[in-house]
Amino acid sequence: MVLVFVNDPLDSEEAGGHFYHVCRGKVEDTEMPVPPPDRPYECPRCGVELENEDFWIAQVKGSV
Ligand SMILES: [Zn+2]
Repeated sequence: MVLVFVNDPLDSEEAGGHFYHVCRGKVEDTEMPVPPPDRPYECPRCGVELENEDFWIAQVKGSV
């Protein structure tokens, strides 16, 4: 698992929810912005690549 999606029902201003990178088995505290489709985010610590598509899969499934 490298990405989790958290949808806070009390957070009415951001209905889209929040994404968090799971780095080496630990969920990071800071929220991940969704990268553009042609520029995947590569984590400097664990080296995982998070593509735009992964975020939408996480949004549907809860995690990737
Ligand atoms: Zn990482």
